[in-house]
Amino acid sequence: MDSRSGFRPLEVQNLVIVGSGPAGFTAAIYAARANLNPVLVTGFQVGGIPGGQLMTTTFVENFPGFPDGVLGPELMDLMKAQAIRWGTELVEGDVESIDLSKKPFLVKVDEKFIQTHSLIIATGASANRLGLPNEKKYWTRGISACAICDGATPQFRKEALAVVGGGDSACEEAVYLTKYGSHVHLIVRSNRLRASAAMTDRVLSNSSITVHWETEVIDVEGADWLESLQLRRKGSSNDESIFVRGLFYAIGHKPNTEFLADQLKTDSNGYLLTNPGRSETSVQGVFAAGDVSDFEWRQGVTAAASGCKAALSAERWLSKKNLSNLVLREVLEPAQVPKTTVISTTTKENYKSDAIWQKGSYALRKLYHDSKNPLLVVYTSSTCGPCHVLKPQIMRVLQELEGKAQGVEIDIDSDLEIAEQAGVTGTPMVQLFKGKSLKAQWKGVKPRSEFKTAIIEQF
Ligand SMILES: Cc1cc2nc3c(=O)[nH]c(=O)nc-3n(C[C@H](O)[C@H](O)[C@H](O)COP(=O)(O)OP(=O)(O)OC[C@H]3O[C@@H](n4cnc5c(N)ncnc54)[C@H](O)[C@@H]3O)c2cc1C
Repeated sequence: MDSRSGFRPLEVQNLVIVGSGPAGFTAAIYAARANLNPVLVTGFQVGGIPGGQLMTTTFVENFPGFPDGVLGPELMDLMKAQAIRWGTELVEGDVESIDLSKKPFLVKVDEKFIQTHSLIIATGASANRLGLPNEKKYWTRGISACAICDGATPQFRKEALAVVGGGDSACEEAVYLTKYGSHVHLIVRSNRLRASAAMTDRVLSNSSITVHWETEVIDVEGADWLESLQLRRKGSSNDESIFVRGLFYAIGHKPNTEFLADQLKTDSNGYLLTNPGRSETSVQGVFAAGDVSDFEWRQGVTAAASGCKAALSAERWLSKKNLSNLVLREVLEPAQVPKTTVISTTTKENYKSDAIWQKGSYALRKLYHDSKNPLLVVYTSSTCGPCHVLKPQIMRVLQELEGKAQGVEIDIDSDLEIAEQAGVTGTPMVQLFKGKSLKAQWKGVKPRSEFKTAIIEQF
């Protein structure tokens, strides 16, 4: 539990919130301020990283209150800090299953069980991907799952763009992108659009859109940024390559509900059903918020708003059923959120041979040659959301190991040459060295225990 909240732990929780996107954190802020001492399970790998989908984007330009835009990961860091400040207890991990047949409900997280009187499911939805061979490389470097969110970014302006999909979303996105791109290619697998007649007309009558019927994307290519699509037409053995700087997926979303094992009613696409305009699901005491129950709007602000509704509904339900165990706030006004300390690049003057964490090429060179300890090199970039998640995890591992291993952060924007030499193709990436030899390498966010075990093996 966060020490600043000053709350005592409860045997049966009032409320467990599953998911740490805008819906989950907003629900947590409201529930915590209502003295419900909510527990929020952040999610880790199964349905996206802690912080949710906005951790995977750069600038969010349409969230109210940020006139100049805000980086997605920064926005989520702020929501998290606000939820913790008011007394939310965070549990890092994925919910494996929930038993709704018993009261209190039983939530299984990484082999541990939490009992709770009420639940908010805010696990979001993951955009379907095509699974192209080069997809990972160009994800956020030309490929996006959200034209409305990313279409206006400078890299796409006045460039040829493509949308893949044949439904309403694909058509809407194609039309929307004509505002920014020089031309839009709509890649449709079948010989017709599944969109409404009006939307179909808008696409077909728009001279800035070329529809490629019965065509599939086989792969993408480029350098640092996406440059071309390889297309294959049904029945043809000759692939065609078209030049585009952006590829937008509009091939549907999959709500993250596997762990619920059909215990709650869903629509035919798996979205949780709630009472119209409300948060109550088909089981009393279980509420839904955000994209997991919203196939239509799917925006940060709509998710946040529904998180607020779900928390207020849960609070009222708990109080009506006489189940709320309100915690007494020892400190009425919680301490302000500490400002994040920016770690500056290590120089000859401030280098410390025994520091647990340093930054930049100078520290890397020195530790690589001189240190007898296992050395973790963490490659990051400033706009990388998963890096925000991973860095504190690794710092915690190193602190737990009390200096027996050391870490260096390499920002690939400022140390491009080192990143190239190390073969970094995306961030975050971590390499473990001992005695100048590479012992292990990880790409993406991994559980803390994986790093710790690999380091301990080097002792
Ligand atoms: C690339 C991109 C850019 C976007 N840009 C914008 C934008 O500019 N503006 C905007 O308004 N919207 C934008 N969106 C949409 C926006 O991100 C979503 O609408 C919003 O994040 C939905 O919030 P949510 O809380 O419902 O779910 P999510 O943000 O998806 O969060 C779901 C959470 O649930 C967790 N979870 C999943 N399964 C489990 C489990 N089994 N156990 C525990 N936790 C679990 C995940 O780890 C995650 O923390 C963008 C989306 C994408 C993909």
